[in-house]
Amino acid sequence: MSTPDPVSAPLVEVLNLTRRFGNVQALKGVSFTLGRGQVVGLIGANGAGKTTAMRIMASLDLPDTGTVRIGGIDIVQEPNLVRRRIGWMPDHFQAYRDMTVGDYLDFFGRAHGFRGEVLVQRVTEVMEFTDLTPLATRPMDKLSKGQTQRLCLGRTLLNDPEFLLLDEPAAGLDPRARLEFKNLVRILRERGKTILISSHILTELGEMCDTLVFMDQGRVVHHGEKEDLLRHETNDVATIFDITVHGPAQALAAWLETRAGWRLVELRRDGARAEFHHAEPESVAAEVRRLAQDLPLLGFQRQERRLEEAFVDILRTGAAPIRRRGPATPPPLPPPAPPAVAAALTKEGDV
Ligand code: ATP
Repeated sequence: MSTPDPVSAPLVEVLNLTRRFGNVQALKGVSFTLGRGQVVGLIGANGAGKTTAMRIMASLDLPDTGTVRIGGIDIVQEPNLVRRRIGWMPDHFQAYRDMTVGDYLDFFGRAHGFRGEVLVQRVTEVMEFTDLTPLATRPMDKLSKGQTQRLCLGRTLLNDPEFLLLDEPAAGLDPRARLEFKNLVRILRERGKTILISSHILTELGEMCDTLVFMDQGRVVHHGEKEDLLRHETNDVATIFDITVHGPAQALAAWLETRAGWRLVELRRDGARAEFHHAEPESVAAEVRRLAQDLPLLGFQRQERRLEEAFVDILRTGAAPIRRRGPATPPPLPPPAPPAVAAALTKEGDV
């Protein structure tokens, strides 16, 4: 039996999911909720458990314990009812040889139970929305990666779902195709869809989503508004600066290493991005004076936090980095970022 579905209730409730594969505990009690019309990013390094959680939410896998309710309907007890309301876009897509774009959408439209005029209308609408109409007769194994992703999204939209689960939808797309894809997500959001998008491409998720759910090793380690994560004023973990010097940046890197409170984030040819772990303006001013004495300083500018930095902070401190300013004593320096995670999140092209 389904429970009532009041409009004020969250559309999606994920309740204490656990899932084990052999000796891998992929999910260790994952819970979060999504409000109606929210576009939420599910972020985590490879193996964090994103796909496992999403497959369960899409009713393609069963949890060992816990459940998911969509519009109040329990996905474990009534998967067929839930499937009518959701659209699942997997991270891997099977292209069928000799099947055209039009045939493919027609096939999946029939699988949803559409026939006759309704079927034609749904396929036509989806092709127009994803800009695939000019490619209707093209064999799907001859599509570019971007066109293939649009086809996969089109398939996901055939039943006009209110909740979309998109697993790594922009992976492998070139910048133009990414832009096109983001635009489609924006339109879907304007149409009131609730969307969960997984990725480890943090900046991209940041552009598409208001809310972010961070996963690490089978757990949700943070769930909150993107703006809160990026806000400097409430963050006392670190302040980010962009420093430019005249001459080789290695001298700056060496300087940062000798000074307490600094951590090099990124070395450029003409300078560096670095974190300083004392928030008081006097400490910052003293560092600028000292830096200008020691090196030919050209620029020193406070920077916006990046999402990957917020994420690494969360992993490092074991808690959200959003904290009220405490007493004047600076916080202890955190240990270095977990290398595998930091590397996974800052790969070239991913940020
Ligand atoms: P990625 O970003 O690489 O897609 P992910 O966050 O989506 O990673 P999952 O695919 O959910 O992570 O995997 C979580 C863990 O569960 C990993 O250690 C993975 O190897 C394991 N796992 C997932 N599916 C299976 C399976 N069918 N059999 C065995 N292990 C699995």
